[in-house]
Amino acid sequence: MNLILLGAPGAGKGTQAEMLTQQLQIPAISTGNMLREAIANGSALGKQVKQFMDEGSLVPDDLVLSIVAERTAQPDCANGFILDGVPRTLAQAEALNAKGVRIDHVVSIELSDDVIEGRMTGRRVCTKCGASYHIVANPPKTEGICDQCGAEVSIRKDDAPETVRHRLEVYHQLTEVLKDYYKSQGKLRLVEGNQSIEGANAEILAAIGAKL
Ligand code: AMP
Repeated sequence: MNLILLGAPGAGKGTQAEMLTQQLQIPAISTGNMLREAIANGSALGKQVKQFMDEGSLVPDDLVLSIVAERTAQPDCANGFILDGVPRTLAQAEALNAKGVRIDHVVSIELSDDVIEGRMTGRRVCTKCGASYHIVANPPKTEGICDQCGAEVSIRKDDAPETVRHRLEVYHQLTEVLKDYYKSQGKLRLVEGNQSIEGANAEILAAIGAKL
């Protein structure tokens, strides 16, 4: 099963992608995590994307598309994958389609900008593996330490309030149009984001017809 998780920054895509990956036994491909890793490694790609990411703007489509193409071609994606944070523009969606990437369901996690802005201050991510946390809704078992890999959990630079507002604008201007694109293909499933993590997860599983 090939899935796309859509939704504004902070809607809960990363958290749901981590749960779905366990439940469906298919990998989650987070372009945000891959790009943050490239920056942390000091790679050429990392140097190219750092400024866009720090200011909360989108990285050029060609850079994102090449890392996604490389990742989805790996053997662990043969039975399906979960795209988290990609596509983010109509051009990216059309390019994936042109490359023959088949998509079964597009789950949009719906949440108002006000709720998102309130949530973002509590958001934390693992500096090493990218696992997502929230200090109230989903804290790590040991404060400041990732449950999955034991590395430090910290605030993302682009979660600063001004940058979050810019990222929300980018979402409304460039990404939200994808809902219409996939709706016209009969693939869009809307899920309420303003509820517990488990509640949203159950809705997603029902929306994609997954039987665990
Ligand atoms: P995320 O972790 O999904 O919120 O992504 C963090 C940042 O990475 C975004 O603000 C963009 O700068 C960049 N990014 C991640 N995915 C994409 C994408 N599909 N297209 C363009 N930029 C992206």
